[in-house]
Amino acid sequence: MALLEAPIKENKVLRNLIDGEWVRSEGPLRDVVDPATQKAIAQVPISTKGEFDEAVASAQDAYDDWRRTPPVARARCMLRLRDLLEEHFEEVSRIQTMEHGKTIDESRGETRRGIEMVEVACGIPSLMMGVNLEDIASGIDEYLIRQPLGVFGIIGPFNFPFMVPLWFAPFAVATGNTIVVKPSSEDPLSQIRIAELALEAGVPDGVWNVVNGGRDVVSAMIDNPDVKGVCFVGSTPVGRDVVYKGCGATGKRVIAQCGAKNYALVMPDANIPRTVAACMTSFFGNAGQRCLANANLVLVNEGLSAAESKAFYQEVVDAFVAAAKSISIGNGLDESVQMGPLRDVGKKQRVAGYIERGLAEGATLRLDGRQFTVQGDYPPDAFLGPTVFENVDNGMAIAQEEIFGPVANMMQAGSLKEAIDMVHANPFGNAVSIFTGSGKWARELQYSVECGNVGVNIGIAAPMAFFPFAGMKDSFFGDLHGQGQEAIRFFTESKVVIQRWF
Ligand code: NAD
Repeated sequence: MALLEAPIKENKVLRNLIDGEWVRSEGPLRDVVDPATQKAIAQVPISTKGEFDEAVASAQDAYDDWRRTPPVARARCMLRLRDLLEEHFEEVSRIQTMEHGKTIDESRGETRRGIEMVEVACGIPSLMMGVNLEDIASGIDEYLIRQPLGVFGIIGPFNFPFMVPLWFAPFAVATGNTIVVKPSSEDPLSQIRIAELALEAGVPDGVWNVVNGGRDVVSAMIDNPDVKGVCFVGSTPVGRDVVYKGCGATGKRVIAQCGAKNYALVMPDANIPRTVAACMTSFFGNAGQRCLANANLVLVNEGLSAAESKAFYQEVVDAFVAAAKSISIGNGLDESVQMGPLRDVGKKQRVAGYIERGLAEGATLRLDGRQFTVQGDYPPDAFLGPTVFENVDNGMAIAQEEIFGPVANMMQAGSLKEAIDMVHANPFGNAVSIFTGSGKWARELQYSVECGNVGVNIGIAAPMAFFPFAGMKDSFFGDLHGQGQEAIRFFTESKVVIQRWF
């Protein structure tokens, strides 16, 4: 049980990055606590509206020069940032584990995905190209160019402190915009480190700013007329009611990617050992704090007799519970650990509240995550083990609401059509997975389901950096998504020029 060396050695007061300077905030300070040890590792300021507005003023000042910097030179900055992130790969991964609690392998995966965003943004000279057509009328040509807009705000959630702001930041900056990032105040250290590396990569002062804080910074972002658009990832109530509605009222572009409750559909012809292995990562990876995590497992008894359905259910659920029981829990800096703590004690209490609620609703607790053993000598405060409910009805709160913890609900459906109806009865539409050997069933799900991300024999249907990070219904507000070409479109305005040469 050897722990990896911790990259954070002292408890520092974090600063804001405004106009290339790391400045102290006048706002109150809050501890950033490592959930595994319950020790404070930093103090984050809850910055004021005035401090945010200062950052926007610096971003606005930097904008004119930056947008005139040739795309190929902006791409060079992204290439250097990519190299620096690669050089500091292990350090930034360990920072994520300390500030969030996830295992080191989960952090390394997050770092890899984040770097891929920067890599895709390096292609900006091609990605940002317009189109043209000669002779739209005799001797007249027309072409469309894509131009940046100005200052964008980026608001991150706690669950992927490194990767999620990178769904937007490299694309915004590479297209010639300037940004102010507001990381989650629960785990802001990764974004501070990325911004330090962006400066080192040669991103000019004022182009990439960071302002720590909470709701005051968010409302300042929505109110500031120089902010042209906002990218938000977080819970549905904040994304829909605060950010989406606020940006609508102030006339800003907005991407708001919100909550989720995802279903895994297991067909009778699924490869059961491989399905269960994929489900362990999907249901319990990141301690269930993933917008793409599966939460409801539906055994689809399509074409089975009653006796066959019973045997199918027993085989899958017994294997699922046995695998869940064997997951080791502890400090994510211990490489042998398979699941870290929840981000904080409050989140654990919220999940435990849902376990009580499931029992009150009449579900059966097959595996109770409140009974667990932590590997090593750590306070149990934020830890919770994998939890499995049986006899869950799709109408129960535990099946409908986002629990955001390691809780799995076992359910059944008579047919694929019935299973898809169950998915549609849920307000969210982020992801769904099907486990099957049948192309027909997989195609039917892909064709008809109202969900942004579909996995076929994949538990976490996470789109790569060159595809949009999709979502539907309550999981998404806005017209475009983060990542790839859709991000480029979000961060640019099209302009059409019609030209005649005399
Ligand atoms: P959250 O909504 O609590 O916080 C998100 C951000 O909003 C944070 O930066 C926070 O400081 C700020 N914020 C919180 N309350 C606010 C308020 N009242 N007014 C203004 N700003 C406020 O979300 P979270 O708990 O940090 O993240 C988890 C959520 O994010 C889950 O619902 C998860 O499903 C969702 N998520 C969605 C996606 C996706 O792509 N759909 C990806 C990752 C996470």
